[in-house]
Amino acid sequence: MTPLYEGKAKRLFTTDHPDELLMEFKDSATAFNGAKKAEFENKGRFNKALTVLIYRALEARGVPTHFVRDAGDIAIIVKKVSIIPIELVVRNVVAGSLAKRLGRPEGGKLRQPLVELYFKDDALGDPMINDEHVRELGLASPEELGRLKQFGLRVNDLLGDLFAGAGLTLVDFKLEFGRLATDPSTVVLADEISPDTCRLWDAQTGEKMDKDRFRRDLGGVMESYAEVLRRLEKELAPKS
Ligand code: ADP
Ligand code: UDP
Repeated sequence: MTPLYEGKAKRLFTTDHPDELLMEFKDSATAFNGAKKAEFENKGRFNKALTVLIYRALEARGVPTHFVRDAGDIAIIVKKVSIIPIELVVRNVVAGSLAKRLGRPEGGKLRQPLVELYFKDDALGDPMINDEHVRELGLASPEELGRLKQFGLRVNDLLGDLFAGAGLTLVDFKLEFGRLATDPSTVVLADEISPDTCRLWDAQTGEKMDKDRFRRDLGGVMESYAEVLRRLEKELAPKS
């Protein structure tokens, strides 16, 4: 295994298989484009476990992902992809940057799910872009972008139901996509899906159960991640 890339939350390594990578989840947390940093014991373990549960559930419901198999406590094997530098955000409830942008209070339900695009570029601070910027930057063809949005809405439906069953409201989330190294015409869901990349509120109390606990210094960050994992494991356990 050779280190390939170290990011803010994960490391990538090559493997014996040329088309597969090992993705390791770190205990580091960052927010505000890396300006705020902390370490949380077990964060890598929780996010790995949650990503595996979610990707398995999505695959079982027909959504192609880069997930290949589990690789221990903090790592998974994934298909190597070329990441499309678009972060697709889907929102159901007003929160975070949308609350600021529209001047609406957090917590208001949106009329229908809202899809937003951001240019994945740390140096630029991941600016929000639209379809025309995607075309100008040559990030994806119009057909491909249409497919990414459909993908996002389908994942929203599936994850919304899954989390609702676990007593959690899926407020919003971010997805990344990649073109398979073995077949660039095939696009799959990549990166992770975890409380780092989703806003999840307790359906009864509205309590925040995601990375906003870190962003906003609410405390109990890992307790919330552990609780999300516990609930999702229960929801996905075979029913006898
Ligand atoms: P960042 O790069 O933003 O600091 P991470 O620490 O999460 O983020 O690093 C993981 C990196 O790996 C991201 O840049 C992500 O786009 C990329 N990535 C995710 N899945 C794959 C994959 N299957 N193949 C190649 N790269 C991937
Ligand atoms: N998000 C993410 N990575 C990013 C930016 C956003 O995973 O680089 C997720 C974030 O956790 C939330 C959703 O995308 O679930 C929408 O985030 P928002 O635009 O509100 O930005 P924030 O205020 O969280 O920076």
